Amino acid sequence: MRPVLSPLASGQVLCGLGPMNTLAHVVVACAALSRPQAPRRNLAVVAGALIPDASMFVFFAWSRIQGWSGDETWNVRYWMEPWQSLGAVSNSFIVFSGILALSLWRKWPLVALVAIAALLHIAVDFPLHADDAHRHFWPVSDWRFNSPISYWDPAQNGRMGGLIETITVLVASIILWRRFHNFRPRLMLALLFALQLAAFVALLSWVR
Ligand SMILES: [Zn+2]
Repeated sequence: MRPVLSPLASGQVLCGLGPMNTLAHVVVACAALSRPQAPRRNLAVVAGALIPDASMFVFFAWSRIQGWSGDETWNVRYWMEPWQSLGAVSNSFIVFSGILALSLWRKWPLVALVAIAALLHIAVDFPLHADDAHRHFWPVSDWRFNSPISYWDPAQNGRMGGLIETITVLVASIILWRRFHNFRPRLMLALLFALQLAAFVALLSWVR
């Protein structure tokens, strides 16, 4: 989910786009790990794909309750505690590698799937976050990789980042379409891809 925005107009566009990036993670994780007729497994995969962004949704809801402006929300409060620590924990390769190791040792297959899906989310985020990068190696290091390609910020090659994300979702959607033959999953897929495409078009037309 995108944490940085300044002017209100672009803020409105971005608030609409933010959850889209999270859904892209769900589609990618499902393409990698889901199986037909395995609802518990697939639920674990979806949960793992959502966990890294969960604190952002809570933060955003809290900001609405508090009535903070877009500027205060993203340029001030976002950088304060507890949000920075929550973001670091839920986006840490170290944390989820630890959970994966533990679940393999204890033979908890569903927990292992949650951890793998979360690791996949973090791995996809890693090359596509510029000045909004997370501390992916917390608690070992506070280092942030500020990629030259943002998945949204036009000032940091965001159009290319959005294109990479959209192509990735397209490929993942094709894989899932071929794997799931029922009407409902296919309808959901078509809907998700249409949303991704709409978000990408909005990103292209958004001039900062
Ligand atoms: Zn994320």
